[in-house]
Amino acid sequence: MGNRFFVLRQLTEMSHTLGSPEWDCAILGEGNTSAKVDDETLYVKASGTQLGAMKPSDFVEVQGKVAMALLERETATDTEIKDILQAAVVGDTNLRPSVETVMHALLLALPGVNFIAHTHPTAVNAIMCSKIAEEAVSHRLFPDEIVCCGPAPVYVPWTEPGPPLARKIRDLINAYIEQRGYRPKTMLMQNHGLVAIGSTVDEVLSITSMAVKTFKILLGAYAMGGPAFMADDMVERLWTRPDEIYRHKLLTGREI
Ligand SMILES: [Zn+2]
Repeated sequence: MGNRFFVLRQLTEMSHTLGSPEWDCAILGEGNTSAKVDDETLYVKASGTQLGAMKPSDFVEVQGKVAMALLERETATDTEIKDILQAAVVGDTNLRPSVETVMHALLLALPGVNFIAHTHPTAVNAIMCSKIAEEAVSHRLFPDEIVCCGPAPVYVPWTEPGPPLARKIRDLINAYIEQRGYRPKTMLMQNHGLVAIGSTVDEVLSITSMAVKTFKILLGAYAMGGPAFMADDMVERLWTRPDEIYRHKLLTGREI
């Protein structure tokens, strides 16, 4: 029970940071956050709540595997989706879990992942809502971006939020891990926003803040004639260099 309380407190504080006006990552009801409780359950933001003003009681505890049953229900109606999500809720509550609960459940099921933050940062969406979104995120720009956000994101073409998006994400994440042998740290969703995938709150916050900085730099670089992307082999080298691994550990509190 002590661990549960600690996780919820960390999740609440992380949400306040992400929802603060200085971070410019979410306004009104935008974005959602979650944390792994144990192998069975997770806490996820309730529908209709605001990141910057979350109370511990605004998170819903959900059984991950029950929510993930929606991945196999391609023809579920909106009512069925609501009923399955509600059936996954632990305990007695009037709150409804976020429509993105299935996405959170499947990301938190990845090894070593304990916290997720999905936000709509203004700087990120300035580019993710543009015609050059995919090209803009196809390469890396500078070493600290690689350290915090990994060598490559998962790019998610526009997909309707809810179970269709969760299915698309499952397939893209599996393909990423298959190809690279490690999990992604970020997902960038066209016309939608950012997902930071971390093992600690510090990691999620460093991923999110560095992604926002990267997109501000991209905006400047496109205004100055276009980004000078780093070569892919240099990106791989920086990602595996021992001093970068050490720096990554200092910044995020964990091994790669
Ligand atoms: Zn969203």
